[in-house]
Amino acid sequence: MTDKVSFGYEDVAPDEKTRRVGAVFSNVARKYDVMNDAMSGGMHRLWKDRFVKRVKPQPHEAILDMAGGTGDIAFRMAARGAEVVVADINQDMLDVGIERAMERGIDGLSWSCQNAETLTYPSNTFDAYTIVFGIRNVTHIDKALREAHRVLKPGGRFYCMEFGTTDWPGFKEIYDLYSHQIMPKLGKAIADDEESYRYLAESIRRFPLAHEFERMIRDAGFVNTRVEKILGGAVNIHSGWKI
Ligand code: SAM
Repeated sequence: MTDKVSFGYEDVAPDEKTRRVGAVFSNVARKYDVMNDAMSGGMHRLWKDRFVKRVKPQPHEAILDMAGGTGDIAFRMAARGAEVVVADINQDMLDVGIERAMERGIDGLSWSCQNAETLTYPSNTFDAYTIVFGIRNVTHIDKALREAHRVLKPGGRFYCMEFGTTDWPGFKEIYDLYSHQIMPKLGKAIADDEESYRYLAESIRRFPLAHEFERMIRDAGFVNTRVEKILGGAVNIHSGWKI
């Protein structure tokens, strides 16, 4: 059992998780952006704006947006003049992102198919590393965090936004009901895909608590780690520095 990892509420072999996560995002790629708006009532846009404000991308900084999917975070950082590489393990997600960038006339982004656990970049390459709603889908989170640390330059900063567990009384129950009952139904109605959205909800519950994840970030070598809670921890922005 020890080498099993979570895929939603199931425990599966690591290779199986990677394969099934790949299938989820290939299935949802074309509807991903519409679904994000539908599921969060548009709030994901505000969280992403807030996240990028925290990252403070500077003109000409080299930033790796890991698990960057269809480019939401990268577009915001490129608008501030940063040189952004959007990396994701799933080419279907990247393809949607490349089309969106062309439609919006955004150039200057690089797109690269990469596994967060085994990056092809040399050590000390990037000024900042961002990963938004991606890390909980990675099979070996500790490996991905060590790779993030390796590819950052000394003085580089790590920023991660991920769903978590809210501690607001009353809201927790509503949130649980919403994510387990309504999210999969919305997935069925809009994307004809109940299972993928059931996985996305379950994967949130299996993700380590914010203080546990912060410890994992420190174990990977980061210092001055911090967690900023949104909606009582339903969404968390984690940060840390490489020295
Ligand atoms: N960051 C984007 C956003 O916020 O809209 C996309 C987030 S989406 C929920 C999660 C992304 O993580 C997917 O595009 C998926 O392919 C990617 N992903 C999952 N496992 C990965 C891995 N091991 N390495 C790189 N990307 C991964």
